[in-house]
Amino acid sequence: MPDRYWQLMIPASADSAEGLTNFLWELGALGVVEEESGGTAQLRAFFADPCDLDTLHARVREYVDSLTMLGFTLLGPPHIGPITDEGWAEAWKAHFRPRPVGRRLIVAPPWSTPPPHGRLVIVIEPGRAFGTGHHGTTAGCLEAVEAIVERDAPATAIDLGTGSGILAIAAARLGVVRIFAVDDDPDAVAAALTNAARNRVCDRVRCVLGEAGAIDAEPAQLVIANLLSAAHRRLAERYARLVLPGGSLVLGGILDSEADDVATIAAKAGFRREAARSLEGWTTIELRRAPQRVDERRRATIHDRA
Ligand code: SAH
Repeated sequence: MPDRYWQLMIPASADSAEGLTNFLWELGALGVVEEESGGTAQLRAFFADPCDLDTLHARVREYVDSLTMLGFTLLGPPHIGPITDEGWAEAWKAHFRPRPVGRRLIVAPPWSTPPPHGRLVIVIEPGRAFGTGHHGTTAGCLEAVEAIVERDAPATAIDLGTGSGILAIAAARLGVVRIFAVDDDPDAVAAALTNAARNRVCDRVRCVLGEAGAIDAEPAQLVIANLLSAAHRRLAERYARLVLPGGSLVLGGILDSEADDVATIAAKAGFRREAARSLEGWTTIELRRAPQRVDERRRATIHDRA
């Protein structure tokens, strides 16, 4: 557990609250709570120490200024302070309740692991890495992974941008035998390693520091990438190299309005859209790479023999 937490408080109007909330999540908030009083909302976002408070403050100011220029009503500047009151620290913890996801999973923090009741408990420490299961993108990817594992039982997977390791760990618990997890943030890799150990799946999940666009992993039957749409546009060709023919690709972190565009780009790289789910404004797309054609298969066999 980090031993200190910060809270950023900012008043927000109805039209700006959603954008601001998403922005605070993107900045690495562990949780964002919206409190309403008298028609105005106050957002409270929680960050773990160490946290670069000056940069955080500057980025939120910059975002608020840009919203104001676009004509949104904002009611005041952000304020950042430590959470000193024990009561608040407990209230923050209470925000992370066990969350059932899909049909078979439940994601829980270490201080509140529920009895399984037939579900697989995935224990994730809310730390500095993204991925507690409480964000629509993560929950959408978990549901997609669960559905694909149930249908195809892939033995191998790659998790690009693993964050807390949550998707790789869930894949392992669901039965995927070997998962290669990568993140370009050393804090995320450290968190993913700790969480993998906590869930006893170190023998199945390999976590490495690296850039998704540069990794040279063996192609897998399932590739998961909960990144942002811009990254999917850039990485589409790389996905085609990492997913085995006939294998699945799960793309998350896509705003609903961007989903068609991302699916079109993936189609150009050889993927067919199989399903899409939207949660809290974020779309997760399930795609499948075309199976190898018979003539290609024959050519590959001849090549192998040569
Ligand atoms: N998979 C987790 C975390 C998603 S957040 C979940 O679903 O909740 C995205 C993560 O991807 C972050 O940890 C970020 O550090 C990492 N990331 C972003 N761009 C990346 C890139 N180009 N290469 C590797 N990791 C990247």
